[in-house]
Amino acid sequence: MEVLCPICHKKLFLQGKQACCENRHSFDIAKEGYLNFNRHSASSGDAKELIDARRSFLQRGYYAFLKDEIVSLTEKYQPEVLCDLACGEGYYTKEMKADKKFGIDLSRQALRYASKTDKSTFYLLTSIFELPFPDESLDMVTTIFAPLADKEIARVLKKGGLFLYVRPNERHLYELKEILYERVRENEIRDIPIEGMEKVKEYAVSSRPLIDHDGLLDLFHMTPYGVKTGREGREKLENTSEKGVSLDFLISIYQKL
Ligand SMILES: [Zn+2]
Repeated sequence: MEVLCPICHKKLFLQGKQACCENRHSFDIAKEGYLNFNRHSASSGDAKELIDARRSFLQRGYYAFLKDEIVSLTEKYQPEVLCDLACGEGYYTKEMKADKKFGIDLSRQALRYASKTDKSTFYLLTSIFELPFPDESLDMVTTIFAPLADKEIARVLKKGGLFLYVRPNERHLYELKEILYERVRENEIRDIPIEGMEKVKEYAVSSRPLIDHDGLLDLFHMTPYGVKTGREGREKLENTSEKGVSLDFLISIYQKL
């Protein structure tokens, strides 16, 4: 399996602490083990507060049922080469089953943690909209709560390869929104066709755990609500000791034609 130079698209070779192509473009491998394609800006990707809240929330296990479902799909389809797009700290990536795994994210902080704690995956710091892989070279791509890089996904998947797309479903976080806002609606779910791919399966996985105060605050800070909620909503959340909250996800499986 090849990783390509993001500049000239020639194959990269490992040379000590760097990856280089035949045109002498070189990229650093961080001491934690991830390959850094982002040579310019010092920071990119999710904000630290969001990453910390997400890690804390995930460690409490509320999303374990979703992770189990995703892992079971990788066990069922047994991909040879898999790439998890916008993998964050590798919470899902780490346990996915594949002969060769890649994880891509733009956050240095998240990838430091991911590559320290998961030696089964090769992590790459780069944009999910410019994947450093040859055409038709991957058996499976996953995207969990992240923007859809549909053109790149369709390009890098082998014919018959699968794309697992996980996004919030209608009831996701409904009760959290009830704390934060006067009027609450269910999330609108639309069908998403992807050119060159066929949707072969779509289903929901849901749970409604009782989430404690600290868990609610983490959830608040890891979602867009942490940015867009006013003072009143924040105060109500501060005064909530626990709440049953719907965790509702839609899993769509696409196959490359
Ligand atoms: Zn190059």
